[in-house]
Amino acid sequence: MAPQESSDQALNQIEQMDQKHVFGTWSYQSEVEPTQIVEANGVRFTDSRENTVIDFSGQLMCLNLGHSAERVEDAVTQQVSEAEYVSPSYTTEARAKLGKKLADVTPGNLTKTFFSTSGTEANEAAIKIARFYTGKEKILSRYRSYHGATYGSISVTGDPRRLASEPGIPGTIKAPDPYAYGSTLDPMESLDYIDEMLALEGDTVAAVLVEPIVGSNGILVPPDEYLPRLKEIAHDHGALLICDEVMAGFGRTGEWFGSDVFDVTPDIMTMAKGLTSAYQPLGATIVTDEIADHFEDNMLTHGHTYAGHPVACAAGLAAIKTYEEENLIERAADIGRYLEDRIEDLADSHPSVGDTRGVGLFRGIELTQHPERREPFGEREDKVSKGSTVLDEVTATAYDEGAYVANMINTLIIAPPLTITEDEIDEAIAALDSGLSVSD
Ligand code: PLP
Repeated sequence: MAPQESSDQALNQIEQMDQKHVFGTWSYQSEVEPTQIVEANGVRFTDSRENTVIDFSGQLMCLNLGHSAERVEDAVTQQVSEAEYVSPSYTTEARAKLGKKLADVTPGNLTKTFFSTSGTEANEAAIKIARFYTGKEKILSRYRSYHGATYGSISVTGDPRRLASEPGIPGTIKAPDPYAYGSTLDPMESLDYIDEMLALEGDTVAAVLVEPIVGSNGILVPPDEYLPRLKEIAHDHGALLICDEVMAGFGRTGEWFGSDVFDVTPDIMTMAKGLTSAYQPLGATIVTDEIADHFEDNMLTHGHTYAGHPVACAAGLAAIKTYEEENLIERAADIGRYLEDRIEDLADSHPSVGDTRGVGLFRGIELTQHPERREPFGEREDKVSKGSTVLDEVTATAYDEGAYVANMINTLIIAPPLTITEDEIDEAIAALDSGLSVSD
């Protein structure tokens, strides 16, 4: 995903300093052209060229409350003045209350949380916990998935971001996806495949790790029966089900979690992003009673200096209270239907829209350069100018017209703050309408 900015203007002093001294993520460094954000309010932000745009993807699909949510800002300030940091061997009111709150809002008997600082670390902890608990080593995940950047989590990631880090950690296995548009395998048939894979592995798999609704790999929503059946299959083979809710969690789908959409309680659930609405870096790995009990007499050989950081926990608690008290989960479901209709309007008028998918305020628009053959635009081979693919040009045009939209793996990802209004959706859709004229 290339940064979006007006291409013909030179970098300012801050941007030049950043370019020289700070690594850009997932990038050829010669292609990184940082854009400075100078202000962010509600669903909009303003860059150094005075473009004010609607944040139609909530940055990296994480700003569920939008910018400048006062309750979270105040909670952070207050916690800093009370106790800015304590070691994880002490507790704080914020940490204890957030642990309890997560047990309340997550489904079923998910009960006890390990805190970390990112989605990546939440998944690292889940992998270790599953291995310690089952005494088995292997983790089965799917190809169209992203679970993080460190060695364990990148090894269970299925998308091409894993390739440069291979072979990674031992014991990772990849299975096919419930991807009806781009795969010859029916989503439910792909489950038979997983069943067979687990049997062929001789039931040596500790856990099956999935995003209940796949995020950056294209917003893939499986059929209703898929996740419940996957849990059964995993358990039949003595494997746990881990649901990675890093992107789908905290109201994005119109339910608290993606797992709730399918009425499934996983054995382990991982969270980050919307947990604090990204106001503080915080990851969480919550486990069921049974798994929690196991560690009463078996050591949890894991921890970080910043585990349960009080300021991050205070932000998490305030964010969750805001979701609850402002009814933002229900709101996401309602306004998500409006968003769906507007996206369908775009699909009707743009031949390069191949497929639209999603639930709530978590939606994807997959583009195609050949609708009959469902042929994707490639990534690097479709570059139209330095560092830029067709999808980058689509989003750059949309940005110039007033909406920031993330694009990943041939899909435009729409995940605005849960506070977005119908008028703001209309504005962003009009900008995207201009953008899509580039790919038609
Ligand atoms: N899991 C999922 C589903 C994600 O989308 C991401 C990040 O986008 C991660 C894990 C990694 O989270 P982080 O970038 O906070 O480490």
